[in-house]
This record gives sequence, C-alpha cells and structure tokens, in this order.
Amino acid sequence: MASQGNGVSRLGSLPPRSVALILGTRPELIKAAPVIKALGESGVLIHTGQHFDEGLSGSFIRELGISEPIASLRVGGLSRAGQIGTGVERLEEILMSVQPKAVVVHGDTNATLSGALAANALHMPLVHMEAGLRSFDRRMPEEHNRVVVDHLADLCCAPTDVNHANLSAEGINGGRVVVTGNTIVEAVKAHMPPAAERRRMVADMGLTPSRFVVATMHRPENVDSPGPLRVILEALVDQGMPVLFAAHPRTTRAIDRFGLRALASRLRLIKPMSYGHFLAASAEAALLVSDSGGVQEEASIVKRPVIVVRRSTERPEGLGTFSQLHAPDEKLADSIATALESAHETKQELAKLPTPYGDRYSSTRIAGAIAALVQLYETHTTPGSESITADLLEAQSWAAV
Ligand code: UDP
Repeated sequence: MASQGNGVSRLGSLPPRSVALILGTRPELIKAAPVIKALGESGVLIHTGQHFDEGLSGSFIRELGISEPIASLRVGGLSRAGQIGTGVERLEEILMSVQPKAVVVHGDTNATLSGALAANALHMPLVHMEAGLRSFDRRMPEEHNRVVVDHLADLCCAPTDVNHANLSAEGINGGRVVVTGNTIVEAVKAHMPPAAERRRMVADMGLTPSRFVVATMHRPENVDSPGPLRVILEALVDQGMPVLFAAHPRTTRAIDRFGLRALASRLRLIKPMSYGHFLAASAEAALLVSDSGGVQEEASIVKRPVIVVRRSTERPEGLGTFSQLHAPDEKLADSIATALESAHETKQELAKLPTPYGDRYSSTRIAGAIAALVQLYETHTTPGSESITADLLEAQSWAAV
C-alpha cells in the first residue's frame, strides 16, 4: 500500500474532545470504534440515530466498548432528504457548541453526508474514513453520498489502493489522500470469539460447524418490493442445511408487509445478532449470502465465501476469491446449491489467501493522519480562510504524514 506512514507521534498534540466523529449506523460504529479507541480522550461521538433500534445502535455501543455519544439526533425514520436536511441543521448546532478541531465521518450513509455538509458549512477540517469506494452504480443513494463526501473532505482515508486509484481518477489526490487499510480487520480481531467459544455458540443455536448458511439482506432494491425478496427467500429454503437469517428490522417489516412470513419461517429467521455472535456464526458457516458491504469485507477475514446478492459492488477487492456477485433472480437458488457443494474445497483455498483490507494498524494510521491534519491546519491556514483544502494543498506536506 502507498503512503502508509502513521504520523502517530502527533496524536499527543490533540486536546481532549477535539475530534468529533459523526456516525449513524451499525457498520459505522463497528468500523469507527478502533479509531475512537485510538483517539482516546480526544474523540467525541455524535450519533445521528439513522439506525435507532436498540439492536443496531445502543447495544452495539456497549458491546464495542466505546463511550456513549455526547448527542443523539434520532433522525431515523425520516425520508432521505429529511435525514440529511435535519441532520445538517442539528449537527451545525452541536458542532458549534463542541468546536472540534476536526470532524470525522465514515462510509456512505445519510449520516456521513449530513456530517460532511455540516462540517463544510462551518469551515471545520473534514476527514472521510472509508473513502474512494465506488460501485459506479448511480441507482444507489450511497454512491452519491460517497462521491460528494470525498470531494468535500480535506483528508480521505482510503482503505485500499483500488480506492486510492478511484479518488485519483476524480482528481482527488496528492495531500488529500492517505491509504490506511480498513479498520474492519481490527474490529474482527477484537470481537471474534476464540474457536472453542465459537463452536459452543454455534452448538447453542443447534447448528453444526460448516453445515449451515448465514444470510443477511437489507438493501432497498432487495427488500422494499415483494418480487426480489420472495426470490431471495425461495432461493435460501430447501438447500439441505439450516439457514440463519439475521434479519435487519427493515427486512422483518418487509416480510410481514408482503405476506412472506410462511416462506421466511422455513429459515431460521432471527433478530440482528450481537457482533461477537455474528462473527462466530460467519466464521463457522459453510457459506454467507448477503447484500451487506461489511459482510463482504469480513468474508475475507473469516475466510468464508460470500454470495453478494447485488448487481454491483463498491468492494471489488474480493471478487473472484472471497465474493461473487449474483442478481436476485431465478438462478440464485442453483448458485447457492453449487457453492454449497464445493464449500469444503473453497474453505481450504480461501484459508491461504490474505485479506485485501490490510493489517491491524489502520486505526493508528487514521488517528495519526487526523492529528497531522489538525496540526497542519493550525499552522498553515490563513486566518479567516474559507478554503481549508486549498491552504492544505498549498502546504504540500502530506508526504510527511
Ligand atoms: N452484523 C451484526 N449482526 C447481524 C448482522 C450483521 O453484527 O446480525 C454486522 C456485520 O458483521 C457487519 C455489519 O453488521 O459488520 C454490516 O452491517 P449492515 O449490513 O447493516 O450494513 P452495510 O455493511 O451493508 O453498510
């Protein structure tokens, strides 16, 4: 990976509560947690409440061992425009009172976009974690969120060289990009139960290692209309082994709304699992079937194959090895059956491959880069400047990060 110095020696220069992390969903909490820990007292969490169910937010904050948010906005349940608009307005007030020296957002959600817009409106230095991911699929709202936030950010933390190249192709380069790896590697290492404990957890669920499937599904194109959701559920039943379907609240509501409860009851339909339980189940499963971004990354760490029920992905790094794309169509059932037939051999092949998401030091690099950004901003920006980025580029000192 390019530009991976960590600048961590500068961390000590960050005062308490000087870095505001604006997060709103389960995967953002999971992947920002290592950075929150690395920042220590310098970091404060602001939660937009995009995910507001206890099983996707409160219990996760406790499980991940991070401090409670200093503010929770509860924008969840509003329309996309409502979440973004209300989010920006409320975040402006909170950021004005906290006066952080940098604002950090993660990923591609409405929380990410509203946090980035609020920081930009207040001329606060903006850091984007998980920058440079592109599906090139303009039907996805997340694609628009990522593109806008990358262009607003003063510092883009790109997990992989692929992400770095995407940013360069859009003219975002030089001092604004640092390749850090993805903090998912640390998150998995920190929360994966040991092997014996995993087998006990799986046995407690009445399952046998390598003899079950783990499935998650939550993207609007898969669950917001009855057609694709029915096709996906039908493809998962009768596969000759139990399917643990950890249903997102959006999916559970859709199953009831579309009268698919009888079909879904032929699977092990369960509520969202704690992170430790979900990782244990994933690591012991024969196969993962999911439309999740985070699960695609985790598949490469737990070394299990994942069928990604989508037409495009912003995470091409694992394609052809850990992951394969599949549309929610009538061929999905056969593809799952084929993957299960060769699951044993696939497991042995995947065990030999490294994850494309880096090592255990991504959070250290990101925290160091944030500290360097703050230092650079304090020493190089023109008082009253409205263009942080221009001044930082002028300073041209990112190579030292
Ligand atoms: N996850 C979990 N419990 C579950 C299902 C998923 O902890 O029951 C975790 C999973 O390990 C991954 C993250 O949630 O890290 C993915 O979240 P989601 O699919 O909601 O969002 P996406 O990654 O697609 O943005």
